[in-house]
Amino acid sequence: MVQSSVLGFPRIGGQRELKKITESYWSGKVTVDALLAKGKELRKHNWELQKQAGVDVIASNDFSFYDQVLDLSLLFNVIPDRYLKFDLAPIDILFAMGRGLQRKATDTTAAVDVTALEMVKWFDSNYHYVRPTLSNSTDFKLNESAGLKPVAEYLEAKELGIETRPVIVGPISYLYLGKADKDSLDLEPLSLLEKLVPVYKTLLAKLKEAGAKSVQIDEPILVLDLPESVQAKFQATYEALVDASSPEIILASYFGDVRPNLSAIKSLPVAGFHFDFARVPEQFEEVASILNDKQIFSVGVVDGRNIWKNDFAKSSEIISKAIAKVGADRVLVATSSSLLHTPVDLKSESKLNPTIKDWFSFATQKLDEVVVLTKSAKGDDVTKELEANAASIKSRKESSITTNPKVQSKLAEIDESMATRKSPFEQRLTVQQAKYNLPLFPTTTIGSFPQTKDIRVNRNKFNKGEITAEQYDEFIKKEIAEVVKFQEDIGLDVLVHGEPERNDMVQYFGEKLDGFEFTQNGWVQSYGSRYVRPPIVVGDVSRTVAMSVKESVYAQSLTSKPMKGMLTGPVTCLRWSFPRDDISQKLQALQLSLALREEVVDLEQAGITVIQVDEPALREGLPLRAGKERSDYLDWAAQSFRVSTSGVDDSTQIHSHFCYSDLDPNHIKALDADVVSIEFSKKDDPNYIQEFSNYPNHIGLGLFDIHSPRIPSKDEFVKRISEILKVYPANKFWVNPDCGLKTRGWTEVKASLTNMVDAAKHFREQY
Ligand code: GLN
Ligand code: ZN
Repeated sequence: MVQSSVLGFPRIGGQRELKKITESYWSGKVTVDALLAKGKELRKHNWELQKQAGVDVIASNDFSFYDQVLDLSLLFNVIPDRYLKFDLAPIDILFAMGRGLQRKATDTTAAVDVTALEMVKWFDSNYHYVRPTLSNSTDFKLNESAGLKPVAEYLEAKELGIETRPVIVGPISYLYLGKADKDSLDLEPLSLLEKLVPVYKTLLAKLKEAGAKSVQIDEPILVLDLPESVQAKFQATYEALVDASSPEIILASYFGDVRPNLSAIKSLPVAGFHFDFARVPEQFEEVASILNDKQIFSVGVVDGRNIWKNDFAKSSEIISKAIAKVGADRVLVATSSSLLHTPVDLKSESKLNPTIKDWFSFATQKLDEVVVLTKSAKGDDVTKELEANAASIKSRKESSITTNPKVQSKLAEIDESMATRKSPFEQRLTVQQAKYNLPLFPTTTIGSFPQTKDIRVNRNKFNKGEITAEQYDEFIKKEIAEVVKFQEDIGLDVLVHGEPERNDMVQYFGEKLDGFEFTQNGWVQSYGSRYVRPPIVVGDVSRTVAMSVKESVYAQSLTSKPMKGMLTGPVTCLRWSFPRDDISQKLQALQLSLALREEVVDLEQAGITVIQVDEPALREGLPLRAGKERSDYLDWAAQSFRVSTSGVDDSTQIHSHFCYSDLDPNHIKALDADVVSIEFSKKDDPNYIQEFSNYPNHIGLGLFDIHSPRIPSKDEFVKRISEILKVYPANKFWVNPDCGLKTRGWTEVKASLTNMVDAAKHFREQY
């Protein structure tokens, strides 16, 4: 019989319970037992929810207190020595690797000071994983001190009467996504595979002993362009993993097209495969053809990355093809990936327009979708559900809410001149230098300052109508004034207003633009305890009101230093929203670029002539494979940025910002921004710096990690800058943090920025 399968469920809780408890733990307000108990409660809730929905194959080990890849690093003992010096409990080692730890000595404990590991985007999503950091001395073994998480969670579910399928990232992806540690820069992580495989084997054996019949091993790198040498590793690795002591292995890939790597997996001795047909239905025939006559075919049809209601008619077609191919007994009707990337429950949204709400499906609703599709495939009577689905799909298709003729005619007017600055960079530079007269090593920040409790409380009060718009405005002004004063006091050169009025850099603009819907509780984990609430692009996008001018103008009125206007770029607005699936992403980005262009021009006219248009999601949006789709993306992504920023004079200085991905300077060059800042404090590879030295325009290489409460000393900054100066020219060197400071507290922000500015002054004297 066909069965339903869910590859993973959001771990954060419907009311962000996970965030609340972990942050309380970090600040010492609750004990580790309370933390662990809450984790257990969340897992129980999620498993039972899925069980009640009628899901047949439910995942375990999809839970994590920080990140599932980091969990594996702890489990496999991939822990750089610097985290082991302090005698921390395993969970604290985990958090120290995830977010760094700095703690003063007490009577009973020694001081701790250690930076976090690097964090990078998980494929083309806005989820960040903590990069496995390997060295020649890495001693792979099952780290029992932390308990064997996959086994423990499997047993925990079993005790609740729920049979689960543990999920773990596979060994090849784990290493491929890792990097060499500072002390072993010549190390090729995949060269460690032979050492790691036996550890996986032991883990699999323990899972089997515990009763697990099958495990889901994710090898998501199968959707990347893999060199021959990496492809060649699959056969031997999986032959080694599969034997009598291991449970059945379902090998899963998602987020893309596996076809170019099919030969690497076509004769693996695994029990089955999972593929993403929500993203790439075209791969069906070819991937189906690799299954032997026993293997399970897990058909990912319910999209784990978006919030649109599943089109049952389309999915059923794929499922029928699968059944025709391998027989009903071997088909799993599945989510395309883990549901980690979708909000928890649509039911908790009470403010959405009911017509539009009916077009959406969040994680909890997706459970029902998988189940209904399965029932339908089995021949159960689900006529009512199928009819309701068809009606909803039709309602969206025919709705007039989604189109705006004015936007369409403006789009048609976009041409190359709209996407080109008046003069080339060198000329603009001269005008800008004369105008701003900035010192060498100019200092700035990326935009946001701490979002304090006070800010959240006031925003909530305003949203609930407990304070008036005037009162809220006054409050925001006071916040801006404080941030401006602080920056002047410590001597920053290009100031920001601090973004206190923004809950989130995308949501804020989404709420002001036409064409977006937004949720009350649609949180999705971005990294650790940081969750975002992506707005939803429902229709054609346009700007009806100025979005940021008031705050920037007020901030500028308080200082004679340049005030940097702050906007979120078109690609990032799109990527960090749930995009439409009925028109291309290119069209959506261009619509956004027109709206942003109006804002940029308004800012300039209001006297804000340094304007930063953030594009941290630029790299994340890059199609995972080389080819036409990727080159097209690079074209329209750059075009939409340039359309946004080219309506201004040469003397207006356009900044942009990028973070948490391996950037290619060529992609950034195409934007033609005057100054860019990039996250850099965790980048150890000298070649990476070298690549940026050839970037023509000016760059701020991020100097400290904003995910960590740790405070670097002035000397540490000086050391880091000297290192970079060996390869990077002083005359193009801006000084700034890795990213915005919104998640930090004031104490550490004050100290870190002061030290950073002092370090810049030190170099000014030298040069
Ligand atoms: N301007 C934004 C901020 O400082 C940029 C954040 C980001 O890159 N994610 O918060
Ligand atoms: Zn950033």
